Amino acid sequence: MEKAIPLIDRWHHGMEQYDVAVIGAGPAGSMAAKKAAEVGAAVIILEEHPRAGWPVQCAGLLGVRAIEESELPLAKFAIRPVRGAFVVSPGGFQITFRSKETKAWVVDRRLFDRALLAKAARSGAEVRMGSPVTDLVRDGRRSILTVGRGVDLQKIEAGVVISAEGVGARIARRAGIGPPREILSSAQVEVPFEVVDPEKVEIRLGEKVAPGFFAWSIPAQEGVARVGLCCRENACEHLKSFLRSSPIRKRLKGGPLHLVVGGLPLGPPASTVAEGFMAVGDAAGQVKPTSGGGIYPGLVSAKIAGEVAAAAALEGDASAARLQEYEKRWRRAVGRELRLGMIVHRMMAGMTDEELDDLIRDLSKREDLIRMIEECGDIDRPSVVIRKVAPRMGLAGLKLAKILLRNRQILKYSV
Ligand SMILES: Cc1cc2nc3c(=O)[nH]c(=O)nc-3n(C[C@H](O)[C@H](O)[C@H](O)COP(=O)(O)OP(=O)(O)OC[C@H]3O[C@@H](n4cnc5c(N)ncnc54)[C@H](O)[C@@H]3O)c2cc1C
Repeated sequence: MEKAIPLIDRWHHGMEQYDVAVIGAGPAGSMAAKKAAEVGAAVIILEEHPRAGWPVQCAGLLGVRAIEESELPLAKFAIRPVRGAFVVSPGGFQITFRSKETKAWVVDRRLFDRALLAKAARSGAEVRMGSPVTDLVRDGRRSILTVGRGVDLQKIEAGVVISAEGVGARIARRAGIGPPREILSSAQVEVPFEVVDPEKVEIRLGEKVAPGFFAWSIPAQEGVARVGLCCRENACEHLKSFLRSSPIRKRLKGGPLHLVVGGLPLGPPASTVAEGFMAVGDAAGQVKPTSGGGIYPGLVSAKIAGEVAAAAALEGDASAARLQEYEKRWRRAVGRELRLGMIVHRMMAGMTDEELDDLIRDLSKREDLIRMIEECGDIDRPSVVIRKVAPRMGLAGLKLAKILLRNRQILKYSV
């Protein structure tokens, strides 16, 4: 939709005016901007980098629900389908999951982000690249953003500001949005690699490999895999050791082609809105704690953020009370998944290598549960399979219940 407001009318007291200003042209920012523009708001996206989707900070594994939420045709960014996984315990016990259906896609995040941004622009959002937002002040019922650094500064006035800044979220912190409950450290290389099955991802667990989370290898283009891990801290050091470890070293067929380093924010803050302000995506800790995937919850929440921001700005009421609609709706949409995911993540992170071996060994003998996980497994909504499998786990379930009781404060976690 073309914007009806001529540019000249957006100037007021030497300042450009918009209904909604979105900070960041990642998936969450582009989606929020698209939705706000679609309902008729004047929207600007401000992105500090000169290009969208760069630098890539992602393993590029998107569940089918995330693809659906993107509203993009697969052909624009998909590399290969994923129909299963190998899960390997610290001591080498293994479960293989195979599915007839495609459960996820390996994607080119650069192309994905660019396609989303192009859609936002086609919906009428103005896009300004190379435009870092460096300051934010509240002036009555409007927000004033400073864009640029040094002497080259611009001021932009907006009814509602949406922070889709990613994990750093400097402006969101400045607006009073709290940090996530934890930030994990993550690193990955894209590397020529001996791939066992190009339709399966490999997950490796264990305190020595990736303390507090897991390591992965994800088949990408022919003969290349994304090998990485996420852990409590120092991901680069852990990744170096992982690449040197015997199961991985002998499968490397060349040096790294691309290095990715980043933080994974887990656990949204108590509030994601303030006066005239909302946070979405990584800036709001909307990341699945079971897999570290942020695209699905980020896109779901961004759609709500865009709609509410546009409506509030057009009504002339951008108060925190008005923006609560976003808070309530996104927590209703994905809050339960994030809560359950956090409980599972913290339970797994608290397990010893022996307990992880025990769990994977027990489960590897349970064909019935493996089939169930293959059928109902959904990386975007893990609660569905957890609820089905947990009551049928028998002895393995009792052992997990004991581990949960040992860390019972985990159960108090709320989203
Ligand atoms: C190693 C790694 C692997 C991952 N793998 C997966 C995966 O396989 N699947 C999955 O779903 N998720 C994955 N994630 C998480 C996923 O990448 C994020 O959840 C997702 O990118 C969040 O999207 P976003 O739009 O919220 O933020 P981002 O994609 O981080 O975008 C934020 C944008 O804001 C811009 N910006 C920041 N500050 C400013 C400012 N002040 N002014 C202007 N612009 C600004 C940035 O330049 C950036 O373009 C992974 C993360 C890491 C670190």
